[in-house]
Amino acid sequence: MGDQSPSHSDYSSSVDSTNYFQQCKYIHEVELVNMKLQMRILETHLETKDRLLRNLEDIIDEQETRIANMEDFIQGRTAAYTPPTVMLHGISALSLDFGSLSEENLRLKEALRAGHRKERINELLETDEDYESDMTSVSGEGESARNGNNDLMTQSAIVASKARAFIDEHQISRLKRCAEELKNEKDELKRLSQDMKDAFTVCMGEVKLLLESKTVDFFKVLMERYKAEMERRKTLHNQLVELNGNIRVFYRIRPLLSTRDQAAIRIDSMDEGVVHLEHSSGRKTSRAADFVIPTKFSQNEIFEQVSPIVTSCIDGYNVCIFAYGHTGSGKTYTMEGPSEDPGINQRAILQLFEAAQERGNDIEYTIKLSMIEIYNDKIRDILSTSSSTSSSLTLRRDDSGHLSIPGLECREVISPSDVKNVLKEGSTNRVVAATDANANSSRSHVIVRVHVHAKNNVTGSTTIGRLNLVDLAGSERVSQTNATGQLLKEAQAINKSLSELGNVVFALRQGQKHVPFRNCVLTRLLEDSLHGDSKTLVLVHISPEETHVCESISSINFAEKIGQVQMKGPNAFKRAESVRKSTRVGGKMESPHTTPKKTNK
Ligand code: ADP
Ligand code: MG
Repeated sequence: MGDQSPSHSDYSSSVDSTNYFQQCKYIHEVELVNMKLQMRILETHLETKDRLLRNLEDIIDEQETRIANMEDFIQGRTAAYTPPTVMLHGISALSLDFGSLSEENLRLKEALRAGHRKERINELLETDEDYESDMTSVSGEGESARNGNNDLMTQSAIVASKARAFIDEHQISRLKRCAEELKNEKDELKRLSQDMKDAFTVCMGEVKLLLESKTVDFFKVLMERYKAEMERRKTLHNQLVELNGNIRVFYRIRPLLSTRDQAAIRIDSMDEGVVHLEHSSGRKTSRAADFVIPTKFSQNEIFEQVSPIVTSCIDGYNVCIFAYGHTGSGKTYTMEGPSEDPGINQRAILQLFEAAQERGNDIEYTIKLSMIEIYNDKIRDILSTSSSTSSSLTLRRDDSGHLSIPGLECREVISPSDVKNVLKEGSTNRVVAATDANANSSRSHVIVRVHVHAKNNVTGSTTIGRLNLVDLAGSERVSQTNATGQLLKEAQAINKSLSELGNVVFALRQGQKHVPFRNCVLTRLLEDSLHGDSKTLVLVHISPEETHVCESISSINFAEKIGQVQMKGPNAFKRAESVRKSTRVGGKMESPHTTPKKTNK
């Protein structure tokens, strides 16, 4: 049966040549090969079917033979039965055919797929036009078509590269144009920005000018108002002080120093402006003053009474505060005071500091201190350690017409501790000098002079105010001291200067044309601080002890002379009446203990 079947290997080799497609250039060639292959597949199928039919016929033949053999054996026509093997052989040959057939089919299918793939590739590669022209000139022009195609490809590549180059160039030029436009826009923006800047500068300049002119106007108005207000405040303060009198007299009666002492002086229980004195003889005298400081008043309360005129100094006014009274009446206690409870000197200067601070930064204040002692009508600098200046100085009138003491030490103080230190130094020097020159420090006048220089930074104006804090020498009468020689000379000098002071203050109070400033060093030294708008306060100190009644009366008379005590306030009539009565009761006013005339004699 194997011999009958066609050679399977021949068949397969005929269809196995897939190289066939490799040689195909065009689609029609591929299609041709495809057709051939399909034909071959059909032929192969037919051959295979034929072969199968033949095999089946063989098998049927074998089966029929076998059945016949079996019938023979069953019917006893044959002795033995031998099964045939031919059929099995036919079946195995058949299965082999099927196997090779299926493999062949697979190869054919693969060849077909390759053919289709190739066809599709050609379709894609060739343009329609090229293909058409190739088809028309297909006969014998295959090679030239291929070359044409190659040329086309080359051209296409060239065109593509040109196109790319063109695109690149186009892109570059477009980018360049964009860059140019951007540059132009940038320049335009720059110009605009500059224009705006210029416009802004011009506008700001105009606004500035406008503001300046407005500000200058506004500032001028403010300055005028400020100046007016400053002047108004000064005037009001001055009026307030003047209302109380530019020259005022206060009494201070110190407390009894010993419980054994008898008080001969008392303040009127109904009117604090009147004091009553009771002489040992029984004679009674009553006197009125601007103000009688109650005995219970503390140092601070007393200072509160004098502080308004101290404040005048910061406004450029000259101020004098005198402590008048006999030795032991409490002058130094009032002015200097104990360190734990200081007197007017320290409190006044500290108040100037406070007032300067309250006025703010607009006004720059400089506060300087000098300390002078007048002993035997001679000026001594008690802040100087130099023996020449501490011994004796002279008064000079400078070019501006002001009296000055050349060589006098003047210390600037910038803090409360400075003030305390300088005052303490002067006080110590005075005590040391007192032991050398005079036995009792109450035998000289001591002047603490405060110079307040104010510079208004807003208006540019400057003012100078002077505050003279004077602790006068004891006013006891010469006749009572039993002094002779140096002590008599000393006492006479003191009495003369106190009398001259009385005369000057009296003349000023009376508004006399001639004021006898030149009669002694004390009044000459204080000339600038006593006349004009100057404020003067005389604190007349009185001892309450019976033993000092005469001195007390003498001091009261002095106060009356210089003050011509004004009758003011609700109790003015009563006080005036009281004074009138006292004059009547006493027969006549006590005359001052000394007069210039008497001293001159
Ligand atoms: P003056 O300076 O007038 O000679 P002082 O100031 O030295 O007198 O005072 C004499 C004495 O009286 C001192 O011991 C002082 O302490 C005392 N004294 C003066 N005034 C007062 C007072 N208001 N309160 C208490 N003691 C005083
Ligand atoms: Mg004294």
